[in-house]
Amino acid sequence: EESPGGPSQKKVVAVVGGGLVGALNACFFAKRGFDVELFETREDIRQAKIVRGRSINLALSHRGRQALKHVGMEEKIVSQGIPMHARMIHSLNGKQSPIPYGKKGQAKRENNRLVIYLSSYPVKLMCRVNFVFLRSDGSEEQVEADLIVGCDGAFSAIRKQFLRRSRFNYSQTYIPHGYMELTMPPINGEFAMKPNYLHIWPRNTFMMIALPNLDKTFTCTLFMPFEEFEKITTGDEVIEFFQKYFPDAIPLIGVDALKRDYFRLPAQAMVSVKCSPYHIGSKCVLMGDAAHAVVPFYGQGMNAGFEDCIVFDEIMEQFNEDFSAVLPEYTRVRVPDDHAIADLAMYNYIEMRAHVNSKWFLFRKHIDNLLHFLMPKTIIPLYTMVTFTRTRYHEAVARWHWQDRVINRGLLFSATGALLGGSFLLIKNPPDINKLLVPAEKMWSRLVALRTS
Ligand code: FAD
Repeated sequence: EESPGGPSQKKVVAVVGGGLVGALNACFFAKRGFDVELFETREDIRQAKIVRGRSINLALSHRGRQALKHVGMEEKIVSQGIPMHARMIHSLNGKQSPIPYGKKGQAKRENNRLVIYLSSYPVKLMCRVNFVFLRSDGSEEQVEADLIVGCDGAFSAIRKQFLRRSRFNYSQTYIPHGYMELTMPPINGEFAMKPNYLHIWPRNTFMMIALPNLDKTFTCTLFMPFEEFEKITTGDEVIEFFQKYFPDAIPLIGVDALKRDYFRLPAQAMVSVKCSPYHIGSKCVLMGDAAHAVVPFYGQGMNAGFEDCIVFDEIMEQFNEDFSAVLPEYTRVRVPDDHAIADLAMYNYIEMRAHVNSKWFLFRKHIDNLLHFLMPKTIIPLYTMVTFTRTRYHEAVARWHWQDRVINRGLLFSATGALLGGSFLLIKNPPDINKLLVPAEKMWSRLVALRTS
């Protein structure tokens, strides 16, 4: 097929959406020597004096780092981040208890305000262009390309075109929770809490987390059902609410700041989007949130999007850049993994709020970590597989279910064994009954004395 640029020209790839995934993807295609055009509705933030919109903290883990490494950006980005070694759980009484992520020394999670450096690659950035999907009516805004890559986020315009087609599966789910960001300033120029942790205040239906920033502030994100957000209408009610659920955070955020910032922006919604296939013929493909918006509770949305780029690139290598073979293979390989991480993120939505408070959950976490330490190749905690390896997401889930069954059975056998062993020892070496009777008699006479006194 002839390229829009002419027979001898390089193939043109139009990347729609210059967010995290689109910008990185543009670098991947440019590295392969394609003529890349990046379409973004917002202005070029590299030139902007004021960058509008929200800036959220993102946890960058292994998958994302591998993708950045591929285009030579890992160090540049990671050096601007803060490593996080463990979660720090804040209980209601202000007690803080760390839960490590996994094996010591391995738990490294970067927390970044990410800006992708496009400058190192020859990518044409077309700002303020509203991308119009390929039309045949000769419209001025029509863009021709050999491949259109839809990286235009959770509300993708490119994906909307897929919806018109037959056999395209699509679902979206809004969770009842919204999120709101609050800032915890530094105290005497230092972090107000220990910086190398993901701080969590789990309160069953509510949850607050805090991530450190380079300027020694923390960004606290409060997750709560919308109806609860709406119940709080005055500054005093905000303080009352924090007093009840997050009292240790009040002096750290500040009473005045809390009263003010709570009403600065309304709570934001969170959506989970699943679809399939990710491609149309050999012309168009979806990646990042456009293909799979996930709720943010596994810290994997961007990481999964970055991994999309690396998986696509691996398939390009395998199929010699033949789009007609690459695109269906990409859908075949990637859909089960992206759907698995969407489900896991939903699972963690419950785990982070409720289970981290449960003793059984904490006990199992310790057992999992201990077993991983003893048998690092056999037992790998789910979180470790997802965050610190490139194990395919759907394989990580299957392995997790298998490990869970084995460990639970092991615990049941051990408990039964201990019970039987104990009974056997008791039968073999019965304790002197008189020694047991004396304290029992004493206790009984004390009880009688108490009742009659
Ligand atoms: P986006 O970042 O949404 O970018 C899409 C881009 O497309 C935007 O720049 C937009 O302007 C542009 N665009 C839209 N429509 C058009 C159009 N028609 N034409 C041209 N351009 C267009 N992920 C993690 O990995 N770790 C985390 O810790 C983490 N925490 C999160 C916390 C919260 C509260 C939230 C909400 C998300 C979090 N995520 C996290 C998820 C992460 O933010 C997203 O997965 C990531 O931003 C997706 O990148 P993207 O490039 O696919 O989409």
